[in-house]
Amino acid sequence: MTIYSHPTFDMACDQFDKVADLLSIDPQDRDRLKYPKRALTVAVPVRLDSGKVQVFSGFRVQHHLSLGPTKGGMRYHPDVALGEVAALAMWMSWKCALTGLPYGGAKGGVTCDPSQLSINELERITRRFTQEIISFIGPQIDIPAPDVGTNEQTMAWMMDTYSIHTGHTVPAVVTGKPVHLGGSLGRREATGRGVAFLIGRAMETLRLKSQDATAVIQGFGNVGSVTAGTLASTGIKVIAISDVSGGIHNPNGLDLNAIHAHLQSHPTLAGYTGGDRISQDELLTLPCDILVPAALERQITEKNAHLLKCRILAEAANGPTTPAADAILDQRPDLFIIPDILCNAGGVIVSYFEWVQDLQSFFWDEAEIMGKLYRSLENAFRHTVNTARDRQVSMRTAALSIGIQRVHQAKKSRGLFP
Ligand code: NAD
Repeated sequence: MTIYSHPTFDMACDQFDKVADLLSIDPQDRDRLKYPKRALTVAVPVRLDSGKVQVFSGFRVQHHLSLGPTKGGMRYHPDVALGEVAALAMWMSWKCALTGLPYGGAKGGVTCDPSQLSINELERITRRFTQEIISFIGPQIDIPAPDVGTNEQTMAWMMDTYSIHTGHTVPAVVTGKPVHLGGSLGRREATGRGVAFLIGRAMETLRLKSQDATAVIQGFGNVGSVTAGTLASTGIKVIAISDVSGGIHNPNGLDLNAIHAHLQSHPTLAGYTGGDRISQDELLTLPCDILVPAALERQITEKNAHLLKCRILAEAANGPTTPAADAILDQRPDLFIIPDILCNAGGVIVSYFEWVQDLQSFFWDEAEIMGKLYRSLENAFRHTVNTARDRQVSMRTAALSIGIQRVHQAKKSRGLFP
């Protein structure tokens, strides 16, 4: 399927093929499991504030329909492409199955640079994009959520556009909405808190103590900043962070409150003076206990995998490690890897809770949500650790094999349709 041709899609296919061999999946079933069921590409013409009209490209990919509606984020970034979105949709499928959620994976996005667009332009892009994909989404069809470059406001515009079209308010069409519009308590923080919870479980396994531990975090958006704050609240010293403008490092620990204050009045970390400026490459290879890539795909490659100096690699981003890097990391028993489909699953788990609450119009308190989240993550963590031990495979292969096996089982039971 050359329409998905993209390095990130190749990476997701490589991972799938390896696990399909391990599970001895019948070659006849493989393409049906691997390739997305549906993909939609749309042109999004929008009038900019200057009066000019610009046509943006928009995508939505639904990977499989065997277990329920599809679910996944919407990304606004200059590099968004069909193949990247397809890879992210595939990973969502394995993630939902690993954590036992009744969804297939989906992903979407618009190729644009949100930092160069006004709030009004972003609203027009979102509403027009939603209109273009309106028959492709719905509470029982496909439920978008925020991802890189999108947030609660984006979801509010999507929900409003869909509701205007339907003629009544439909909160369950998206998750990650503002709480006052039917969003779930804890959703904004869920991914980062889940990452920190799993890091805590890995530290217990390695007998690392919080007060002695240091963390380095690449990407300081929703996921990276909440992960940093949650780790710091347990006594872990966050010694370096980065964003699109580069990294900052302070071996004595960064002042996260001062960084948040800086970001109130500046778009990026550029100009922050509470640490030394370092490059992204330097950041990834700093000596630390916990390394958290929380930005984009393909950051840990064959060029830097052997240089990592952490004990725990917690993959908060989707697809941060290439298969070539994996082959190197497989030879490093000193590293405990929490693979992406497990590590960042807290987001989709609380999105599922949000969808359930919206469908019932009955809302839970935050303690109930967080308790349910941590129980789900604990189960997935144990299942992955036990599978890795029993099958003598890496944590990534273990997590993927649990997810892929569950989707395979559903497809076998249902037949060729979904
Ligand atoms: P975000 O847009 O809130 O933040 C992204 C951050 O990465 C920003 O700080 C940005 O400046 C930084 N960044 C961009 N390019 C970079 C680069 N080359 N080097 C370093 N930093 C860079 O996005 P997010 O929602 O925090 O998502 C981050 C990652 O987590 C993505 O891989 C996303 O798919 C994944 N994820 C997000 C969620 C969620 O709930 N938001 C859930 C699961 C997985």
